[in-house]
Order: sequence, then structure tokens, then C-alpha cells
Amino acid sequence: MLRTIKRQIKKHFGHHISSDVIILTRKYVDMVEINFNALLGRHFLPHPRQKIEIETSSRCNLSCQFCAYSKKITAKVVMPMNLFQEVVEQAAGMGFSEIGLTPLTGEVFMDKGVIEKMHYLDAHPQIKSYYFFTNFVVTSEQTIKELFNLRKLKFIHVSLYGHDEKSFCNLTQATTKEYHRLVNNLNYLYDLYNEKRSFILRIGWRTVPNFKLEQSSLTSELQEIFLKFQTYYKIKSNNTLLYNNWGGEITQADVQGTGLRINDGTQVYRKGLCSVIFRFSGILADGRVSACVCRDVNGSLVVGDLRKKSLSYVLSLNNPLYANLIQEQLESKFRPVCLTCDFYNSFYQKMRMNASIKAYYKFDFVKTLLNQPLSEE
Ligand code: SF4
Ligand code: SF4
Repeated sequence: MLRTIKRQIKKHFGHHISSDVIILTRKYVDMVEINFNALLGRHFLPHPRQKIEIETSSRCNLSCQFCAYSKKITAKVVMPMNLFQEVVEQAAGMGFSEIGLTPLTGEVFMDKGVIEKMHYLDAHPQIKSYYFFTNFVVTSEQTIKELFNLRKLKFIHVSLYGHDEKSFCNLTQATTKEYHRLVNNLNYLYDLYNEKRSFILRIGWRTVPNFKLEQSSLTSELQEIFLKFQTYYKIKSNNTLLYNNWGGEITQADVQGTGLRINDGTQVYRKGLCSVIFRFSGILADGRVSACVCRDVNGSLVVGDLRKKSLSYVLSLNNPLYANLIQEQLESKFRPVCLTCDFYNSFYQKMRMNASIKAYYKFDFVKTLLNQPLSEE
């Protein structure tokens, strides 16, 4: 009910009310919903052994002003094939059947072996599906063609930054050559998608706040190709009005002159475990395991390393690093990255970030799955 009210307010008044009003409304609506469900003892946790993220590349070809990539101090590497295979085997052995290949900050196509890795997932009997996000600049026509031969690739989310050459180069700090490469890749994808359409395509568009596609008379190559996707495949995309602060790494000063607005995350109502840790835990390209690959760029939610311990141990309550993080959050004690994170999702509410979740569980059930007897090796 409250969720429906929130959606309706956003739908009808979203463009007319300021971001501050939206943030505050959300805070108080969340407060009511969370406390109501807490009182009734209702939990909405996703199954903790369904989906896992594997970051194949922590390197990126862009340097977007609103992203923490350029500030990241951890290694910028590509996951070797043998580590990837080991990770997939261990994850499948634990029951994970959906794989996200989206990096925390990085670009999948910076990994020249990513298609080989996708073929490995395709051939794996326990893996049902996988997906990835991409800026779609660095890929090639040959690689795009190969995507259509994959059987279990569920969806690709293409993130577009800017709406023309100037705004693309400004937001991503890339060159005009990269802009034209993106446009060419999108056109090539469009032609093939028209013939085959073997996976779902999603497009996320982020550009300056005053840009409105419908009101724009100056069309760029990027707008033209997006309009084709929108017209023929009904792919919709709304511009983002409020940008995430990457756990405090990005501030308004980083996007000065762009017109973008960075959320400071302080107006989020937090109570109890963040359910994101059971939907977006993942293995980083260097083998470390993070309880949340959403926003933890500097590793404060890292709970183990697959080069030293098995995945089944790291993601179990036998592992004190993981168990302590869960216990802290149950007591509403949050680490700095979580305290500023606007992706926080209390387990007293359904998940906002993943509408495809069909079943939710109580913490007691999740705990039994995390408690299974496991060896450390
Ligand atoms: S937002 Fe994505 S494309 Fe841009 S720098 Fe960050 S990881 Fe790279
Ligand atoms: S609060 Fe944010 S950083 Fe912390 S676990 Fe949740 S989504 Fe991840």
C-alpha cells in the first residue's frame, strides 16, 4: 500500500517537486512502513543462495565524474579464467544459479576473455542465467555478434551517459573517438537485435537534469539511436535526478559545473539488516569476497578472500567477519559506508532494487541456510 502511494506520488508529481521533498517524503513513508512491519515481525529477505555477483573486470575505460572509479584505491585488474572457473564451481556447488557479471566499478568488456567466460556459464549445468551492465563503448562488432550466440544471457543493461558528444565527453571525461565508437556499437546492436533478440535489452540514460528527450529539437546521433530503440522495441529510460554518493566517496564538488545533484544519504531511515547483502554479495576481480558489491568501493564490507578460504566458508555464519556484519546490522549498527548509502534496504521492506524477486523469507530461515556445517578449506 505505502509502496503504491510512493510510486503514484513519484509518477504524477516527480518532475514538479524538488529532490529535497522527494527524499524527505521517502524517509517518513519508509519510517512508517518499516516500523509497522517490525512490529508485526515481518521480514522480506531474498533467498541467500540464489544469485551472486562475479566481477570479471575492475578496470574501466571511462572516468565518469559522478562515479568513485577514479578514486578507487584497490587493484584495477581482470579476473583470470582459472579463478573465474573456480568461483563458478564453488558458487554452483552452494546452489547459486543466477550470476551477475556487473562490476562494482569497472567495465565487463575491458576483460578480453569475457565472452569465453560467458560460454563457460552457458555450458554449466547448474547455472540458469546471467546478466551484465556495460557502458558499451569498448566492445567490438565481433563481440556484439557473439552475444547473440549465448543461450543463458538473460539481459544486458546499457548505461548511456550524456545525450550528445559534448555532454558524453564532459560526464565521462572520454574523447570524441569513444563517443563515436559508442554510437557505432549501438547501431550495430540495433541491427542485430532486430533480427535475433535472444536476450532482453535495457537502457539506462543519465545526463544533465534539464535535458528532456521529448522536448529536444537538436538531435544527436546518440539521441537518434536511442529513439530507434524506444520506438521499435519500446525500451524506456528515465533520466536520473539524484546521484548516489558512493558511500561518501563522491560529493557535490566532484560534479561541479555539470548540474548533477549528489545525494548525501543522510536522510535515509535505517532500521535492521540491509537485505542487499543477500542479493548483491559477490566476488571481486582479485578474489576478495564482498558482502555487498553495490557501493563498497574501498572494501569495508569485504568478508574474505577466495585465494585463502572457500566461498561456502566465507558466506557462512562460521566466518566471524560475515557473522559480525550481519549481527551489527540486526542491531542497527552500521559501518560508515552503509551510514551514507542511499541503497540501504531494510529487511522490514520488500526490495526496491529488484522487482523480479518472487519469494521472500524470514531471517530465521535465512539463518539456517547460512549456518550449514562447512569446512574452512
Ligand atoms: S559509472 Fe561505470 S562507466 Fe562510468 S567510470 Fe564508473 S564504472 Fe566506469
Ligand atoms: S547499506 Fe548500502 S553499502 Fe551497506 S549493505 Fe546495504 S546496500 Fe550495501
